[in-house]
Amino acid sequence: MQFDLNKLIRENIKVLKPYSSARDEFEGEASIFLDANESPYPSSYNRYPDPHQKKLKQKISSLKNVKEAQLFLGNGSDEAIDLLFRAFCEPGVDEVLIPQPTYGMYSVSAAINNVKMNQVALTPSFDIDLVTTLQAITPKTKLIFLCSPNNPSGNLLSPNKILEILKAFNGLVIIDEAYIDFTTSESFISKLSQYKNLVVLQTLSKAWGLASLRLGMCFASKEIIPVLNKIKPPYNISGPTQALALERLDDIETKNILVNEILEQRRTLAKELSSIKAVEHVFPSDANFILVRVNAAKQVYQKLLTRGIVVRDRSNIILCNDCLRITVGTPTENKILLDELNKL
Ligand SMILES: *Cc1c(COP(=O)(O)O)cnc(C)c1O
Repeated sequence: MQFDLNKLIRENIKVLKPYSSARDEFEGEASIFLDANESPYPSSYNRYPDPHQKKLKQKISSLKNVKEAQLFLGNGSDEAIDLLFRAFCEPGVDEVLIPQPTYGMYSVSAAINNVKMNQVALTPSFDIDLVTTLQAITPKTKLIFLCSPNNPSGNLLSPNKILEILKAFNGLVIIDEAYIDFTTSESFISKLSQYKNLVVLQTLSKAWGLASLRLGMCFASKEIIPVLNKIKPPYNISGPTQALALERLDDIETKNILVNEILEQRRTLAKELSSIKAVEHVFPSDANFILVRVNAAKQVYQKLLTRGIVVRDRSNIILCNDCLRITVGTPTENKILLDELNKL
């Protein structure tokens, strides 16, 4: 496989002269800022935030053991997903490959960007079907999205199969690790130096408990990251988000305590679910949710709703017939859910 990043980037993005913000043109010491048309009246929010998120990147790069030049921050991982399409996929021409079932944003982003999505099925146990997947790559395929642990099935994809795809494909392989903190499995971040076509996504939305902040992390080579920086909205990460993320990322201990609590609850919940009459199968989970196959998913879903409990109905998607995706809640929430399911 020969990987040539230059052949992958869209022509208009290659020649694009990025927007240069006031904060880009002046970086240094000054006491009077009359360059950005901000309000001069101090409040916590009257100045534009750092467009390069320097401090936050320092913190995350030391936490994740990568160079700052290998890190892009997005307004949620969803922004990084969209920017990958915009940087690398020519609308109406290029294609992406997405093993299904998986996170819905990849196909929505593909549709928004008018990029053809080719789909292959995962195996019945939701792992990569290597032969089918490799066969589905076309000369126009620019991106392959792999979600591990996978949403909505909850399982990790086999690392060896991911490696085979990384080796065989000369476009970008995006591994979405939104749920990696709930596993003991090693992140693919450690493989960045070996694979120039690897992109890893993580987020503060799940294990870190900061979904409302909107902070997604994208790790890739120091050649890929500048392409994303070039096309991002200048101030994509707000000041309060940068400040709060910096503060919370210091408290790894609390994050770990809460993750362990969720893992313990996941064990209990899975065990209890499997003894419920309406539950036909509990899929193994490496994430903070459990996929279950029930008898008549739509009815179970509606029934739970009338009790004020909302789960995710995934019964319409491939390989997930009669499946509900249940997020692991607090011990009290899980108990109420189990009680209601037992009454069915
Ligand atoms: C929840 C989730 C995300 C998180 O997206 P954010 O925009 O960072 O909140 C990303 N990928 C997958 C697979 C998810 O389930």
